[in-house]
Amino acid sequence: MSFKNISCQNRIIELFQNAFANNRLAHAYIFTGQEGVGKASFSRELAKTVFCRSQGTDACDVCNTCLRIAGNNYSDMLVVQPEKNSRVIKIEQLKNLQDFLRIKPLESRNKMVIIHSADKMNEEAANCLLKTLEEPPLYAIMILTATSLDAVKETIRSRCQIIRFSPLSMAVVKNILVNQYQLDNRQAEQVAFIANGSIKRAVWLSQAGAVEKKTWLVEQLLKLECKDNLTFSKELVNTWHIQDTDVLEEKRTFVKELLFSFLMYYRDLLVCKTGRQESPIYHDGWKSALTVKSQAVSEDALFHIIQIIKTTFGYLDHNANIALLLENMITKILHLQFRRNM
Ligand SMILES: [Zn+2]
Repeated sequence: MSFKNISCQNRIIELFQNAFANNRLAHAYIFTGQEGVGKASFSRELAKTVFCRSQGTDACDVCNTCLRIAGNNYSDMLVVQPEKNSRVIKIEQLKNLQDFLRIKPLESRNKMVIIHSADKMNEEAANCLLKTLEEPPLYAIMILTATSLDAVKETIRSRCQIIRFSPLSMAVVKNILVNQYQLDNRQAEQVAFIANGSIKRAVWLSQAGAVEKKTWLVEQLLKLECKDNLTFSKELVNTWHIQDTDVLEEKRTFVKELLFSFLMYYRDLLVCKTGRQESPIYHDGWKSALTVKSQAVSEDALFHIIQIIKTTFGYLDHNANIALLLENMITKILHLQFRRNM
């Protein structure tokens, strides 16, 4: 892959190609945008363009350098991310990064570090990075990727050029699913519709059983009663196989998807309630049931519920007890949903 294969981010490609043409690449960038919009792929393609032997404004994708970058095996490039089963980037990793940058490039004129999930750095690590950003070696190029820009220290942000990645269009997601993941047209369309512009989510949704799990959830939510909170959260954990994996990161991906499903359901209720025809309904097949359900809950309560789900997303990165987190969320949601006269 090279820039020409990056979908839907033409504005950003152009920006970098201009920077290359004018020899004006900044020392540090933050790539920000929701998960699965191509921040990581873009940073890899950018590295190829910086180091590629062909030396144009796009990488050749076939030289030895491009191939080694694709395999994350190039001596002038270092990739840093939270280690497996860790929620944060640790100070040791940043010290390693500093050591890496201290030594001059071995094979080219630059050295590049890519820090994935830079919003998941603890205080110590962030301070360490800040030191490097304050006085970067002339040959250093640093790329930070972050889902939440707010979670990156202001002092770090102010030393980087911020590049915002927008969600991918439905057509782009559909094409990627058809061409790279061999889904048929109808399936790809269905998944692209609910993937909300994220290829990561789309791929997750394309796995066997994923759509069924979402369907199960909507059906349960439609018949949920006020008193069901504890049984429902247990069923949820079982049906979505949340405890089946010991890998924390994988568990979080499941739960994020689950929370997205909640969000879409309550968002649909809000659309039905307010009758905003221009907004599409994600769960189109349940439109009449959703409309009936929406009559029984106030608009205000729906806004609050949506807020609760969003807050739960935020807690996910700081809380290992996922079952408890879900139970709390459901208790709060049901309390709001079935509270009368709001
Ligand atoms: Zn190349």
